[in-house]
Amino acid sequence: MELSQNALKVLEARYLLRDEEGRVIETPEQMFARLARVVAATEAAYGGEVPLWERRFHELLGSLKFLPNSPAIMNAGKAEGQLAACFVLPVEDSMQSIFDTLKNAALILQSGGGTGFSFSQLRPKADPVRSTGGIASGPVSFMKIYNTATDVIKQGGARRGANMGILRVDHPDILEFIRVKRDAVELANFNISVAVTDAFMEALRTGGDYPLVNPRSHKTVGSIAAAEVFAEIVASAWSTGDPGLIFIDRINRANPTPLLGSFESTNPCGEQPLLPYEACVLGSLNLSRYALPPGLDWAALGRDVATAVRFLDDTIDANHYPLPAIEAMHKGNRKIGLGVMGWADLLILLGLPYNDPRSFALARQTMRFVRDRARAASVGLAEKRGVFPNFIGSIYDAEGMPRVRNATTTTIAPTGTLATIADCSSGIEPLFSLAYQRRVLEMEFTEINRHFLDSARKGGFYSERLMAQVLRRGTLAGIPGVPPDAVRLFQTALEIPVEGHLEMQAAFQEYTDNAVSKTVNLPESATEADVARTYLLAYEKGVKGVTVFRYGAKKGTLLRFEDID
Ligand code: ADP
Repeated sequence: MELSQNALKVLEARYLLRDEEGRVIETPEQMFARLARVVAATEAAYGGEVPLWERRFHELLGSLKFLPNSPAIMNAGKAEGQLAACFVLPVEDSMQSIFDTLKNAALILQSGGGTGFSFSQLRPKADPVRSTGGIASGPVSFMKIYNTATDVIKQGGARRGANMGILRVDHPDILEFIRVKRDAVELANFNISVAVTDAFMEALRTGGDYPLVNPRSHKTVGSIAAAEVFAEIVASAWSTGDPGLIFIDRINRANPTPLLGSFESTNPCGEQPLLPYEACVLGSLNLSRYALPPGLDWAALGRDVATAVRFLDDTIDANHYPLPAIEAMHKGNRKIGLGVMGWADLLILLGLPYNDPRSFALARQTMRFVRDRARAASVGLAEKRGVFPNFIGSIYDAEGMPRVRNATTTTIAPTGTLATIADCSSGIEPLFSLAYQRRVLEMEFTEINRHFLDSARKGGFYSERLMAQVLRRGTLAGIPGVPPDAVRLFQTALEIPVEGHLEMQAAFQEYTDNAVSKTVNLPESATEADVARTYLLAYEKGVKGVTVFRYGAKKGTLLRFEDID
């Protein structure tokens, strides 16, 4: 197997099986064999050829062309092997629900998964509490309890611990929520996002007010200028990166199973809207391995999409779920999220700059191909195994719609650690820098991008002096004597304008069932007006959510930037 040094370090630290004394007892090769064996074993229940699929899965994983989300790699074959990365749990307006969900979230966290919660149903601060005659402490106070619990639990777990906290923009406590992470010690285990409605965006456009609604009484308790709330969101996001936005009405218009409920939250990194108690297994194809200049090896990609979909569908059956309610939901909708990583690497191999109309067109072509082939594979599985059990009443239950095995098939994940294992660029992000210290799982690595090294050698502009400069600056911009084409090809995240980031996100979103993980990176000199423009443009472009990070801003949460330091 051709694994990079960084990949080996990460695998040894967190992924390879250990004995009771903590000694590593498998090689990476054996790790992939274990994963392929556990997942392929489920084929027997459907009359599939187990050895055939075990071999195909093993080949695909071992080639680093496809990897499922981290919990699958870490936990396959363990007694309580929990294989999904993404969960959403309900938080209802009662002590019972708040603390039941906290316990359930603890079980998920221990298993390596991450949970999203909407706190929008909790009554606001100072609202009466009938049973005690007292007053309520509000959603933010309960988020702080969840955050502290995460601190304690994660010390014994396999991962750093990640939560998403959502509040609707019309909740009376919205300003407290928007401001809470300005204090860097607060909610460090949470990414937070405001669920903004179309009504809010309309009020913002027309300069109007919008109503604040008490979720317990459903009564309007006041109104506030949309512009005032937006300015607070922007000020917080400028200084800390939080909150992001999720466009909740848009997300719900794409709900494949509206009869089962509506979306209130996403998973921790925002790419996966889920119903309460729903889970999703993600997997990512490493597109850098399909470069066939001037395009892609479509035949190979098509074959591997089909194998990956089968792998992810099998994973649902191989999973040991932390709760019966989650098992029922996940096996009812059978959501999987196949996505891509290594996109920036692929573009470099094809000689296409990230911020270029040809690259946006290729993004659409590629994701459309992945989505179509993934759906076709899901239809193929449905012919043998049946459609997903909640199919009746779903959006697929209509003339001309495909009869699918999975309520969703595509999601684009951040691939924070997967990209290190596969030695490729993360998700659909541009290169953050040509040389940087990568921080993964609390370990630091220094790297010079290998595609850049290759290209400099081939292009005849390699020199020790240039490399020293690149190591210092991380970019080619402003270094004399570098061919202009190379400067454009190797533009890094901070040099790409907001429009380029969002155009790429929108291109992928157009053909993705779930959502797309993307951070719009801004230079340190970016202003609040730049953040505001980013958030407004995101809405206009039709993406489902948006996150910004201004270089040098205070970092409360590391999660969104796990691979950047
Ligand atoms: P990976 O590369 O490790 O598979 P990603 O960075 O693609 O993970 O994140 C995918 C999803 O996995 C996240 O949205 C979240 O639901 C979950 N996740 C990621 N990192 C963590 C973490 N440290 N703790 C818990 N869940 C996590």
